[in-house]
Amino acid sequence: MDATTMASKNLVGRLAHDFPHLAFTADEVFFWSPRLQSVFYGPIKTEDDHRTLLHETAHGLLGHENYEHDVELIRIEREAWNKARELAPIYGINISDAHIETALDTYRDWLHSRSLCPTCRQTGVQESESAYTCLLCHIEWRVNDARNCGLKRYLARP
Ligand SMILES: [Zn+2]
Ligand SMILES: [Zn+2]
Repeated sequence: MDATTMASKNLVGRLAHDFPHLAFTADEVFFWSPRLQSVFYGPIKTEDDHRTLLHETAHGLLGHENYEHDVELIRIEREAWNKARELAPIYGINISDAHIETALDTYRDWLHSRSLCPTCRQTGVQESESAYTCLLCHIEWRVNDARNCGLKRYLARP
């Protein structure tokens, strides 16, 4: 076991110890599942992976659930990053403002691009979590769930 693996096991172990009401489950990607009350974590290799793990843990600590509209996504993402930054020094992790803004920008860019009408490129109106309509073309299009922060899984509804 190399030093990085030791460190990552250590962080998961410390978080699991400090927040016993949350489960921590190894997976391929990082995400928070409100249904299972578990933080799922992918391979932890880089500093960014540590930041992401802390971010997903923050979603859990804040009791984040599903969201209905894109503006809520940005709000809960910011909340989770703020919480992660608050916890970061305890675990020897550095989360800068720039890191948070970059993460949020990625979300905004992605949300913006999926809100554009596929026909006329006007910004559409969000009708639901997964559907937009264009007021000019009167067409509706479906959108995928969020991808970057692992929110994708817990947004899926039966
Ligand atoms: Zn249109
Ligand atoms: Zn998030």
